[in-house]
Amino acid sequence: MNILAIETSCDETSASVVSNGTDVKSAIISSQIAVHAKFFGVVPELASREHIKNINPVIAASLKKAGFSFDNIDAIAFTSGPGLAGALLVGATAAKTLASVYSKPLIPVNHLEGHLYSSFIENKSLRPPFLSVIISGGHTELIVVQDFGKYKILGATRDDAAGEAFDKAAKMLGLSYPGGPVIDKRAADGNPEAVHFTRPYLKGSWDFSFSGIKTALLNYLKQNPVKNERYINDICASFRAAIAETLCFKSFEAAKTFGLKRIALGGGVSSNALIRKLFLDVGKKNKIEVFIPSSLYCTDNAAMIGCAAYFKQRVLGFKYNAQQLKSSSSLQLTNWK
Ligand code: ATP
Ligand code: MG
Ligand code: FE
Repeated sequence: MNILAIETSCDETSASVVSNGTDVKSAIISSQIAVHAKFFGVVPELASREHIKNINPVIAASLKKAGFSFDNIDAIAFTSGPGLAGALLVGATAAKTLASVYSKPLIPVNHLEGHLYSSFIENKSLRPPFLSVIISGGHTELIVVQDFGKYKILGATRDDAAGEAFDKAAKMLGLSYPGGPVIDKRAADGNPEAVHFTRPYLKGSWDFSFSGIKTALLNYLKQNPVKNERYINDICASFRAAIAETLCFKSFEAAKTFGLKRIALGGGVSSNALIRKLFLDVGKKNKIEVFIPSSLYCTDNAAMIGCAAYFKQRVLGFKYNAQQLKSSSSLQLTNWK
C-alpha cells in the first residue's frame, strides 16, 4: 500500500510517499523558519501564504524522489487538525483535489496521531501497548496506546507546552527562534546546576505545567541580568535540565503505574539531546524500552502522517473519498471506531 501524505498544520509544508506504513520512499519538507524567525513565533497568515506557494512543488518533489506517479498511489493522507486553520486548509484542499482528480481514497489524520506513530518508522518492532510521550511546540501529552487507534490520554500541559517554554525562554535570553534547538546547543557548554529551577511535578496528576518555570526565568533575569555568553550557557543548561527531568520523571512514573514496558517519544522537543539521553538511560535502568525517532521525524513531517494513515486504514478500511469528506477537521485524538 503506497500512501501520498501531506502535512501543513503549522510552518512546515511537507509531502511524503510511504509504503506499507514504515517504508519512507520520500520525505520532502519545506520549512518556513526564516519567514517567522523575526517575529519569534509562527505568524498564521504568513504561514498560509507560504503553504500556498510551496504545496504543489513539494508534492511534485515527493513523487519524483520516490519515483512514483499517481498510478502507483493507493490513497492520499493529510493532516486534518489540530493546527492553524488557514495552514490546514491548504493541505486539505490539495489532498481533496488530488483524491477527486485521480479517484483515490482519502485518509484524514490527526496531527498528534502523526507524532504518536512517528516512532514506528524506524522501529519496525514497536507495537502497542506503549506509553506515547508527545512533546512539541503546542502539546505535552502522556497517552497510553492500548492498541492501534485505542488511546487513553492520561495528562497534558495545563498551560505552556514544553516546546513553547523553550521558545519563550530563548526569546527572554535574546536567542533566536525556534528556541529549543538553540537552548539545547548552548546548554551543552553550560552548567546545569548554576541556577535551580523548581521541577513542576504536580503530584497526584499526570498533567504538566511549564509556565511557572518560564516566570521563574523571567524573575531570575530581572534580578541577575545577562552578563556574558557563559552565563547564558549556564541558564540554558539549568532550564533544559528542569524540563528534561520533569518530562522523564513523570513519563516513567506513568509507564510503571500502568505496567507499560515501552515508551515512544514524538514531537519536536524529542530531538533534545538531554531528553534523549535521560529517557534512554532511565529506560535501561528500569528495563523499559525507549523509542525515539531521529530528528527528521521528531519535528513536523508528512512521513509520520503517512505512517499513521496506514495503520488507521488497516483498522478502519477506507472511509472517505473526496465527495464524502465534507469537513476536514478531526480535532480530537479519539479512539478509532
Ligand atoms: P504541535 O505538534 O503541538 O502542533 P508543532 O508542530 O509546532 O506543534 P513540532 O514541529 O513538533 O511542534 O516541534 C517544534 C517545537 O520543537 C518547537 O517549540 C521547538 O523549539 C522544539 N524543538 C525542536 N528541537 C528542539 C530541541 N533540540 N530541544 C528542545 N526543543 C526543540
Ligand atoms: Mg514547525
Ligand atoms: Fe507537530
